[in-house]
Amino acid sequence: MQLQQVNVGHKALADYATIATRGLMDQIRGLAEPLAGKRVLHLSATAFGGGVAEINYTLIPLMQDAGLETEWRVIHGEDEFFDVTKAIHNALQGQARDLTREEQDIFGRYNRMNAEALEGEFDFVIVHDPQPAAMIEHARSAGRHWIWRCHIDLSTPHRQVLEFLLPWIGSHDAAVFHRREYVPSNGHLPGAYIWPPAIDPLAPKNMALSPEDAAYILDQFGIDVERPLITQVSRFDPWKDPLGVIEAWRLVRARHPEVQLALVGSMAHDDPEGWDYYNRTVAAAAGDEDIFILSNLNNVGSVEVNAFQVHSAAVVQKSIREGFGLTVTEALWKGRPMVAGRVGGIVDQIQDGDTGFLVDSVETCADALNVILDDPQRARQMALRGKEFVRGRFLTPRLLRDWLALFNGLNGNETSEVRELAAAAG
Ligand code: UDP
Repeated sequence: MQLQQVNVGHKALADYATIATRGLMDQIRGLAEPLAGKRVLHLSATAFGGGVAEINYTLIPLMQDAGLETEWRVIHGEDEFFDVTKAIHNALQGQARDLTREEQDIFGRYNRMNAEALEGEFDFVIVHDPQPAAMIEHARSAGRHWIWRCHIDLSTPHRQVLEFLLPWIGSHDAAVFHRREYVPSNGHLPGAYIWPPAIDPLAPKNMALSPEDAAYILDQFGIDVERPLITQVSRFDPWKDPLGVIEAWRLVRARHPEVQLALVGSMAHDDPEGWDYYNRTVAAAAGDEDIFILSNLNNVGSVEVNAFQVHSAAVVQKSIREGFGLTVTEALWKGRPMVAGRVGGIVDQIQDGDTGFLVDSVETCADALNVILDDPQRARQMALRGKEFVRGRFLTPRLLRDWLALFNGLNGNETSEVRELAAAAG
């Protein structure tokens, strides 16, 4: 059984020339040249739902277009494995929860199985997140350089679980984190590099959509497009706090009775907790006709998410932990007023009070939403500054540049770009 390959389609770097600066495009070309024909493998737990899938669908075709032979494979797992990996995810984000001996065995067993199923030889193997992090133990020879790419908030990890994973993480040749604060303070790590993820401005999720088209799409979901709408787009996950969003919205409605709420969340197949949390969210909404709880099961795909973000008077991301928060980037890119939890990578994206609002509680979330609804013009000006901030930092060409720089570094070609990304320098 070979690991399932994901078909990512085709993208052309040249299409991004109008979005990225000349300097950046030149850098990409220069860094790609010595890497022509190199073989790259991305390993992840799912090709659907959540940030990793979102990033890979753009990054991989662009790596291909830059001349690297790049493929993406998804590891195989049953519920027993994904229950354990979700527990690992939660513990790494701070939940005080040990892994039992049996859970540790399940994790090791599926990683070994997947490693044994891996075919081919690669110059660079990129392992996304903890789920496939132990494959290296049994498949080292399949890759010349192994890189662990962490997408989660590792600022306050539960030690037992982090220490369980560290021997595997440490046997990679490099590890990449969104933020310096996430690099584990443990001497046994490989070289650590820091760069944030990025969104694809040309993907259906983010491409320009007129207000009329967005309203037309939302009307089909029963939204009253003449009344203001607040939206949160996120998986149904305790760290995303959809229940807190409902509470905040109820406070806002006391002052703005016309306001509606949409909670848009996909069901990732590696997230067994999702259904439970979805049901809890539906229960919390208590049948209120102005709350719309939608998911991919209602045919909400990328274009629909785009429409919800474009149309909303305010977008919320009330996370309690957040690796980076691509939904924040997406909403800022669309120039939407943004209210988000003061956590993780979100604080790298929003300057509180200038380009959006950072909040710590249901009450402050409601206050910020009221400020936006009271003065939509001012909120819009702030959001447009947020868009400019995203343009310079969080769009795909920059992400591609960073990966190419690291590949060069691992191949012994120490460019100035890779030195800048090395966490040790900070
Ligand atoms: N997403 C989506 N539909 C949904 C929920 C999420 O397309 O119903 C996308 C969202 O637009 C974003 C990604 O999934 O691109 C979530 O990434 P983020 O970094 O915000 O959070 P993660 O899920 O990785 O924790």
